[in-house]
Parts: sequence; structure tokens; C-alpha cells
Amino acid sequence: MRKQIAAANWKMNCTYKQAESLLDDILNTQVELKNHQLVIFAVPYPFLIMANSEVADEDNYFVAAQNCYHQKSGAYTGEVSAEMLQSIGLHHCLVGHSERREHFNENNATLSQKVNMCLESELTPIFCCGESLSIREAGTQNDYVEVQLRESLFHLSEVDIQRVIIAYEPIWAIGTGKTATTAQTQEMHAHLRLVLEKKYGSLIANNISILYGGSVKASNAAELFSCPDVDGGLVGGASLIAADFISIIKSLK
Ligand code: PEP
Repeated sequence: MRKQIAAANWKMNCTYKQAESLLDDILNTQVELKNHQLVIFAVPYPFLIMANSEVADEDNYFVAAQNCYHQKSGAYTGEVSAEMLQSIGLHHCLVGHSERREHFNENNATLSQKVNMCLESELTPIFCCGESLSIREAGTQNDYVEVQLRESLFHLSEVDIQRVIIAYEPIWAIGTGKTATTAQTQEMHAHLRLVLEKKYGSLIANNISILYGGSVKASNAAELFSCPDVDGGLVGGASLIAADFISIIKSLK
């Protein structure tokens, strides 16, 4: 069975103390995960080592970085490489969140390099894709998201594509309280799986986890995750409230 994943994206929130107590509140609840279920906390850089040591004894709980640089190393002041993240014991990194595409001009070509950097350093990229409201209103979302996949992921081998987690996040649903309907979500996820199938075959396409992100809440997670092609969620706002995120974890298939 494909991995079912609840991934928290804390974005630029929390102080160190708040981060510690949020993690403690969630981990102390000791939600037991099945073998095919994972929880991943994408936390700000200064909290990575602390958070990773908090989850160290918990089966199937991981910590991710929210970004890495697209070059290996060198004179890039202020940037963090995939190799550095690996060297502190991480296994996952977000790549291409829409906020990075929007505020930091990340494009499909740069993101393909970030994916490569992650894989070279044995990090699983959690590759984010998704369309804006105007694209959704024009009805061209399927083509748009397909191009994001093609340009950032389709250079990968059959082995490497299976090391990627995809997160479909319609931009109009991120942080807006406006969630995609289950029909819209399932339709896009099925489309993405078909796009993967055409390139890599159905066995491989069926092996890749595709998460939904965009105002996932405790109240809608179970319904969204019940869609056959939805393998959990990437959660922003609701991941900052321990009780809500615990309930979202419990909603995994
Ligand atoms: C996100 O940050 O990836 C996200 C989906 O945010 P929210 O859940 O707040 O919409």
C-alpha cells in the first residue's frame, strides 16, 4: 500500500519554546501509526535539530526542512544545502511550495535542480504543485499542474520518481479557509496519477503518494483523505494547533 502521510507545514511560525511545546503536545498523545502511515513536521531551520531529536524514538514520525538551495555548496550566503540537511539526520524536504514560487521566484527549472539535490543527499523531496485561482477559473488547471510535474520531475528515472512525494496544493485554497471539494481533489489527484502512469507505468504511478494541501482541517480531513487517490495531506494553519493536527493524523487511511 502507498504511504499515507500527514505532513505539517509550520511555515514561519513559532518561537523555539512554542515549537517545543507544540511538538510535545502532539507526541505525548502517542498516536500509534500503522506501518503505511507517516507523520512529517516541516519546521523552520532553527528548530530542525531539536524537532528531529524529539521524534527520534517515535516510529514513522519524521522532521522535514521547508526548503533547500538548488546548488550543492559554495558562496550562497544565507542558503542551506540538501547535504547540510542530510548531515543533521533529516530524510525529507519540501520543494516548491507555492509561497516559495510566489515570494522567491522559484520556477519549474530551479525546482528540478532542488529535487536533484535532495535525491543526491538521500532526502525525499515533498514536491508541491498547484494552480492559482485564475487558472482554475479558466479551466486549465490539469494542463498547468501537468507541466509543473513534467518540468520538475520527469527527468527522473523510474527508481528516483518513486523516492518523491507529491503534494497537490491549489493556491486558492492555501490559508484561505476555502478547501477544494472532494470531487475537485479526487479529479486532480486521479489526473496526476494518470500523468505519472503515462510516463512511468501504472505500477510506479500507484506507488507514489499524492497529498492534498489547502485548508485541511480537523473537520474535513477524513472526507478528503477518503478519496481513493488522496494519500493524506500537507497542512498549514491547522498543524499549529495540537488537537487539530492530532485529529488530522487520526484521519489517515
Ligand atoms: C500549506 O501551507 O501548505 C497549506 C496547505 O496551508 P493551509 O493548510 O493553512 O491552507
